[in-house]
Amino acid sequence: MAILFASSEIFPYAKSGGLADVAYALPQALREDTKVYTIMPLYNIIDREKYKIEYTGLTFEYWLCGVRHQFDVFARKESPDELFVFNPILCDRIGLYNDQYGDFGDNGLRFGLFSYGVLEVMIRMKLKVDAIHINDWQTSLVALLAKTRYNLNQKIVLTIHNLAYQGIFPKDVMYELEIDWEKCYKFNGLEYFDNVNFLKAGIYYSDSVTTVSKTYANEIQTPTFGNSLDETLRINSFKLQGIVNGISTEVFNPKTDEYIEKNFDINSYELKKENKKLLLEEIGLKDENRALFVFIGRFTSQKGIDLLLDAIQLFKTYDANFVFLGNGEDFYNNAFAELLNKYENIHISIGYSEAFSRKLYASADFLLMPSIFEPCGLNQMISMRYGTLPIVAKTGGLKDTVVDFTDYEPKKTNFGIGITFDEHNLFWFNHALTKAFSLYSNKPKFEQISKHNMEVDNSWKTSANEYKKLYKKDINE
Ligand code: ADP
Repeated sequence: MAILFASSEIFPYAKSGGLADVAYALPQALREDTKVYTIMPLYNIIDREKYKIEYTGLTFEYWLCGVRHQFDVFARKESPDELFVFNPILCDRIGLYNDQYGDFGDNGLRFGLFSYGVLEVMIRMKLKVDAIHINDWQTSLVALLAKTRYNLNQKIVLTIHNLAYQGIFPKDVMYELEIDWEKCYKFNGLEYFDNVNFLKAGIYYSDSVTTVSKTYANEIQTPTFGNSLDETLRINSFKLQGIVNGISTEVFNPKTDEYIEKNFDINSYELKKENKKLLLEEIGLKDENRALFVFIGRFTSQKGIDLLLDAIQLFKTYDANFVFLGNGEDFYNNAFAELLNKYENIHISIGYSEAFSRKLYASADFLLMPSIFEPCGLNQMISMRYGTLPIVAKTGGLKDTVVDFTDYEPKKTNFGIGITFDEHNLFWFNHALTKAFSLYSNKPKFEQISKHNMEVDNSWKTSANEYKKLYKKDINE
């Protein structure tokens, strides 16, 4: 069996969030016994030299609406199944989707072109694939084009990593992309309140739709979490299923992680405390005996940033240390900027840093994840691998991957343990912190849970098998 896996971001080449991690780790896990081609845009920001990404010799042009679009195809020297397409409109930017002024105005055209690029590369390189796995709105038009323009018979599997991002654009983009109005501009297609919605089209034109946890698969069929596509998802529920994400146990491994000061595993657990000590020194926080709480993530309302900003007024009074790493919406960046160096126990770092994030995972006692909704969430699984206990809102994938330490049944050996809270408000979030303090004061119990989490299997093994079944099931239909 062979798969073409298309994504707008893949770690480590370009990453804005969890999609890149998944787009790296899932194909990697599938490759054990399946041929997988990956394809992504070769953005200007990608370091071609470092990753030995070379021109394959294939250049083609594609005319749309009287405009000539050129595509150059690249591949990694060391693993030629990793493909990249360069097209100037798509790739000649300083960011993936936006810059400091907001989203690029031509994202519809850009990722429409990428979708053409994916199919043209597959056809021109004669890749024999049984299924095409597309991800989020950025590659959703692959499904539409495959069904309405190319009439392909490969099965199309769409994974929704976050329903909040749908790729909604003025319908004029249909001209630029030569999309058939009669076939596609309808409720069971691209049409969306006088605009077009790429993800909606992806849902209709794909053969199977997955999302990244079982709970989120149910939640998105309700008006509360459905982001106005709940009806579309209910209509298509016959082909929708939740498959929980895993993490790469090779990238996220405290034993080998090159970003952290002291590598450790369960047998050298004491070194985790060394990391904490060194981190506190580096950022100027005091007292390694205090519990260390960290937050790592995008500053956007989804991640519960409003709750965190309110909670800081309590945190500043606590005998504990807090570190926030993230960036995102201007409003939140500014709110955090105002708190820089204001409290002796709170460190704030506004930006994106893979290295600093790993140091935080390795050093912290608790990870804060008060998301309002969370399709799957990777941070909680990464933190567990580094012995850091997640404190999570009970929603989406967080509910499926973390059990509260007071509810834990010893029989369930392969289950992450942390602290969960139900109601998204300051009272219950603070209550969760109170539980954390009480657990932290019982060191043997805290360490037992921390070590238990390090051994929980959140790898891709089980979920990759579910995807394989899905590709096969589709093929035999
Ligand atoms: P999402 O995709 O919604 O942003 P996930 O939990 O699925 O959230 O994945 C987040 C990934 O991005 C994790 O690997 C996390 O460590 C990383 N990450 C998020 N923000 C930052 C940041 N500011 N610096 C470094 N890594 C970050």
